[in-house]
Amino acid sequence: MSESTVIPGDKIASIEEYESGHNTFDDGDMVRASTVGEKILDKSTRVASVKHPRLLSIPRVGDIVTGTVVAVMSSMIAVSIDYINGKPTTSKVECVCSTRNIRRKNIALANDIVTLKILNHLNGTIHATIDESQLGVLFTKCRKCGGKVVPMRDAIKCTECAWIDERKLSSNFGNGDFVHLRD
Ligand SMILES: [Zn+2]
Repeated sequence: MSESTVIPGDKIASIEEYESGHNTFDDGDMVRASTVGEKILDKSTRVASVKHPRLLSIPRVGDIVTGTVVAVMSSMIAVSIDYINGKPTTSKVECVCSTRNIRRKNIALANDIVTLKILNHLNGTIHATIDESQLGVLFTKCRKCGGKVVPMRDAIKCTECAWIDERKLSSNFGNGDFVHLRD
């Protein structure tokens, strides 16, 4: 444990001096750690953040990860990782996944549970792919009404309002083991 090691709740900086960055929160007065790790005070951007110890949380190239979609952009999705090779992780590491080469209207939506494979680490960002049959959406809901959906080939159909939508479904879609991840 070095001097810069922090635990959740530790004060990292004053909000007058620094903004709250990754793995931190601001309590109205101080920026505090929301996780165990090493505190980073970036003097140029004035952002205070906490970096996770590598061992805890960083998936390696080739690892299969399962997590929650936190953002959907035009050519990629960002996923907060909950499982690495089937083992739970609480570290909330995020990866990004390009969706550019997949010709579907919707690959995955925010809050969907997806399985991805880690491709590489570039400039501190973890990149993953969704483009294999076992990879893709494991759990989703109707975009219109939030109802339960059932798969129809590569599409899904809402059991409540009958809305049909597209996703890049995993061959394990509907595996109930992952449903509890949403809570
Ligand atoms: Zn619906």
